[in-house]
Amino acid sequence: MTTELLFRDDAYSKTASARVVAINDRGVELDRTIFYPQGGGQAGDTGFLVRANGERIPVADTRKGEVFDSVLHVLAPGGPRPEVGEELTLDLDWARRYQLMRLHTALHVMSCVVVAPVTGGNIAPERARLDFDIDMSLLDAGKIEREVNALIARGVATETVWITDEELDARPELVKTMSVQPPRGAGRVRLLRIPGIDLQPCGGTHVANIGEIGAIRVLKIRSEGKRNKRVEIALTPDP
Ligand SMILES: [Zn+2]
Repeated sequence: MTTELLFRDDAYSKTASARVVAINDRGVELDRTIFYPQGGGQAGDTGFLVRANGERIPVADTRKGEVFDSVLHVLAPGGPRPEVGEELTLDLDWARRYQLMRLHTALHVMSCVVVAPVTGGNIAPERARLDFDIDMSLLDAGKIEREVNALIARGVATETVWITDEELDARPELVKTMSVQPPRGAGRVRLLRIPGIDLQPCGGTHVANIGEIGAIRVLKIRSEGKRNKRVEIALTPDP
């Protein structure tokens, strides 16, 4: 069953009410959720499902379900389980998610500083990386840091834009990430726009203003293959 994705319209929702529509071995499906399911390189959310009696059921991970736009809340093994039809309060691990949002948005900025096809990426709460199809000699950690942080300091507000599949097909230059094709299936594709800096399809969660990223540092640059030169970053100072 399709889950209403509240994070898509408001990435800052920290709590919400929802009803259990299904439970299986993989997880709990709700009618609506603020938990982002792992995808597009971004880690799935964690937090709690809070029962009416106050009992807190830990959510260890969030994954996509089998049906389009369905979400599975993965529970810790051996822990309590809610019942189908039960009304719950969702309580997101916001500190962790906010770090993911800041790092994720930082990768958008970095993809405009390192001008090369993106061949991979990952966003964890403590660090994030992009892989580029580029010559190693063109990757300078100090230069990347300075240029990314200078763009972040502009403090530009981000925007979500929707276009049709046909509009995206007509503008293939928007797709920088060769390894992750934009999510399709509903006839429309979601884009993140950072005015004057970046525009690309993305279904992840982002900060409202790039100034919220603060600043980044490059942790390491290394080769992971012929077409994968990996740049790994963290927020600085450490949150
Ligand atoms: Zn994104």
